[in-house]
Amino acid sequence: MANHNQVKAKKHLGQHFLEDESIAQDIADSLSLEGYKDVLEIGPGMGVLTKYLLKKNTTTYVIEIDTESVEYLKNNYLNLADRIIEKDFLKYDLNLIFKDKSFAIIGNFPYNISSQILFKTLELRHQIPEFSGMFQKEVAKRICSKEGSKVYGILSVLTQAFYDAEYLFTVPPTVFNPPPKVDSGVLLLKRKADFKLPCDEKLFFRVVKTGFQQRRKTLRNSLKTFNLSDNLKANTIFGQRPEQLSVSQFIELTSLIENDIN
Ligand code: SAH
Repeated sequence: MANHNQVKAKKHLGQHFLEDESIAQDIADSLSLEGYKDVLEIGPGMGVLTKYLLKKNTTTYVIEIDTESVEYLKNNYLNLADRIIEKDFLKYDLNLIFKDKSFAIIGNFPYNISSQILFKTLELRHQIPEFSGMFQKEVAKRICSKEGSKVYGILSVLTQAFYDAEYLFTVPPTVFNPPPKVDSGVLLLKRKADFKLPCDEKLFFRVVKTGFQQRRKTLRNSLKTFNLSDNLKANTIFGQRPEQLSVSQFIELTSLIENDIN
């Protein structure tokens, strides 16, 4: 661990630098690297995870918003220099790097933009076979949770429609500098072999998001804005609350709605 010229952590960028090398290695090793060659690391900071990625048989790109971190990386990882993108991940058009190629996403993510990182990944799912990294523990658990759980919600259903989600391990605050206030959790998403849904995918996103806006109500109530026929609303599925529906039931529900409104 280099002790000089370190990057000063910036709170507004969610900077908590991981100081445990074996955890960094475990995250890097969680990718199978099967069927793709390129990896994009979001928020490399001082490169604790990057250095393990660079040892692998992949082409690693990093995207980092902080100029000071980018300077540090350029000075300390010479062979990475032309694959450092100094941009905001959320605003950057990834086609500029990858065109239509597949790539994995990895990172010890900035927790303040966790959900947005996941939503952007879901939008690009046709190009992202694997996704691995660290979130706030509660968010990682939520993404992996199943119907009936208190934390099951939009992130769980949308992610698990396209990916198998596995919670790998918990990481305590003590291994970061500065330590975050919460526990962290590492998760792995592997895209399903068949990730094309048998329903209108745009409508699926709308149904899930609208359904969970009022999670204590029955779907009959929360999906009012869809102006569904009385006949359809008599179906028992509409008597359920969103948190009771499995991913495949949400897909079924979307197909029913699709037929009804067309
Ligand atoms: N991976 C490093 C740093 C984690 S902290 C480590 O484990 O030590 C999160 C990192 O994400 C910081 O370096 C921060 O500057 C960066 N970051 C924050 N918002 C970002 C954004 N919108 N796009 C790209 N990087 C971002």
